[in-house]
Amino acid sequence: MSNLSFSALSMDASLLSNLESLGYQSMTAIQAQSLPLILDGKDVIGQAKTGSGKTAAFGLGLLNNLNVKRFRVQSLVLCPTRELADQVAQEIRKLARGIHNIKVLTLCGGMPMGPQIGSLEHGAHILVGTPGRILDHLDKGRINLNELNTLVLDEADRMLDMGFQDALDAIVEQAPVERQSLLFSATFPKQIQSISERILNNPTVIKVEATHDHSTIKQHFYKVEGREERDEALELLLLHYRPESTVVFCNTKKETQEIADGLNYLGFSVTALHGDMEQRERDQALIQFANKSISILVATDVAARGLDVDNLDAVINYQLSRDPEVHVHRIGRTGRAGSKGLACSFYSDNESYKVALIDEYMNQAIEAEPLPDSVALQNKPYDSAMRTIQIDGGKKQKLRPGDILGALTSGGELTGDSIGKIKVQAMRAYVAVEKGIAKKALNKIQNGKMKGRQFRARLIQQ
Ligand code: ADP
Ligand code: MG
Repeated sequence: MSNLSFSALSMDASLLSNLESLGYQSMTAIQAQSLPLILDGKDVIGQAKTGSGKTAAFGLGLLNNLNVKRFRVQSLVLCPTRELADQVAQEIRKLARGIHNIKVLTLCGGMPMGPQIGSLEHGAHILVGTPGRILDHLDKGRINLNELNTLVLDEADRMLDMGFQDALDAIVEQAPVERQSLLFSATFPKQIQSISERILNNPTVIKVEATHDHSTIKQHFYKVEGREERDEALELLLLHYRPESTVVFCNTKKETQEIADGLNYLGFSVTALHGDMEQRERDQALIQFANKSISILVATDVAARGLDVDNLDAVINYQLSRDPEVHVHRIGRTGRAGSKGLACSFYSDNESYKVALIDEYMNQAIEAEPLPDSVALQNKPYDSAMRTIQIDGGKKQKLRPGDILGALTSGGELTGDSIGKIKVQAMRAYVAVEKGIAKKALNKIQNGKMKGRQFRARLIQQ
């Protein structure tokens, strides 16, 4: 058992007494596991779900490292959006109430430059901002990181989603090598691994909630005979559970296309993914599925390999795999932090042998269950939360994610919170936006300027 009291930590007395006045009586799990290491100067990667108190974990760490008498930038916190940066700055100010004359400055894109330049001339101890804008100020020589001792990447997964990878690398290049680096994230996709290898020094990884415990996946098996019954069962499950993200596995390309067409006809947000599609079509399908513009992907095992998404709400095996290992791999993609994944499988009488193989392999007694109540057929298909704008410009035109974000948020009508993943390819770029603002966002891109010129853009459908 770890001690959950803040007072056991070797932390500045003024920080401790302030925590008491804030009513922070005990540490949250991520704080209890990471703070001792952070206060000890170690690099840490912290993964815990939203609302678990990650800000205080790094906030207390950077405040404890701070020498307020030295009026230089000593901490830099990078966040994906202005809204998140504002929240972090607010929490840090709260935690710093016991320290006099501490200056926390937020520097975010979409905000006027003038006041930021003025504030930077006055100086600050702690900078909180979005990567694009921070890099902009760094490049213009307005920020000096020579005395930086703590670098924090907050919501690193979202920063990578929004295409800030290059900006992060460029910022880190200007930071002193001797520093403490802390990375926080709610999820742990593969790219986090590579960025942390470049930016952190021998970090300790702390995961508070396992996202991938196979025993938390609830498996359902349904007995269906014939094509028609299978299709009806699929429709019923999708309408009953209304998952936000689903992969439906088929065994052949032809079947994949047919199922996707059928679901599309019924009004589902769906696309097929198989080897007969052109590379560009496949790329678009994967981008739209990953950025939540499409909620159902009907795929073959081979095609699904390109899918870098491992927190699906549901996997439906329209056809069971012959190979139990493939089956386990398929269903292993479901389940988000803290919530159970849903895995549904159909089989007919003459496929019972496949079920027996899975049964044996997974050491679980499998029994067919009845389908959900057919009242669910009255539900509407789940509509994906986002829409994708395709822009006719990319790396070749020197377009960067920050340019797209800037065009969308300029003027202040749209905020970073309504903007999702941004993907910039060689000649094209894709940005996901909340469906309610899709038209307005498209207008902003079409009529605004990026890199000094206008780009053609359109909303793409599945
Ligand atoms: P995360 O970044 O992990 O999503 P936050 O850092 O935003 O979570 O914290 C969520 C909320 O919990 C904030 O309102 C914060 O003030 C509060 N909080 C953090 N740590 C504690 C604590 N030890 N005791 C009580 N409240 C806390
Ligand atoms: Mg946070």
